[in-house]
Amino acid sequence: MSYDQNNIFAKILRGEIPCIKLYEDAHTLAFMDIMPQTQGHALVIPKQAATTLFELSDEAATACMRTVRKIGEAQKKGLGAQGVVLMQLNGEAAGQTVPHFHIHVIPGSIADLRRPHATHMADQAQLKVLADRIVDALAD
Ligand code: AMP
Repeated sequence: MSYDQNNIFAKILRGEIPCIKLYEDAHTLAFMDIMPQTQGHALVIPKQAATTLFELSDEAATACMRTVRKIGEAQKKGLGAQGVVLMQLNGEAAGQTVPHFHIHVIPGSIADLRRPHATHMADQAQLKVLADRIVDALAD
């Protein structure tokens, strides 16, 4: 599958579209999901242009998991999450809606994921409050 340079996460990476940023390093970016499945639902993406796991380099995959671990720890500390669910979809057939590799980092339980994903837009101010708590916990 060829990579679509105009997908929404590519635009976020280029700074053409805003996001509620949680963390950034040389290889990854983490930000709040705008249609969260639980409070604090975050996304981790690589800076590498890859649509699915199968195009992602080993280095980028490692960098993503490092960032996932940071975000998950911060959700536990900052939001009091008892559990953290990771979800990662590859290809439209799997339900992937944004064609840039991403890992969902979802504080809570698999039981919280009953409603379909990417359907309900969250209140931006509320997302920002949750993001601030995660960012503060990242700094601890
Ligand atoms: P997937 O269906 O696994 O490709 O997930 C894509 C995720 O991206 C969904 O959970 C959407 O809510 C989320 N999403 C779509 N557009 C944006 C955006 N502009 N900023 C943050 N999250 C987004």
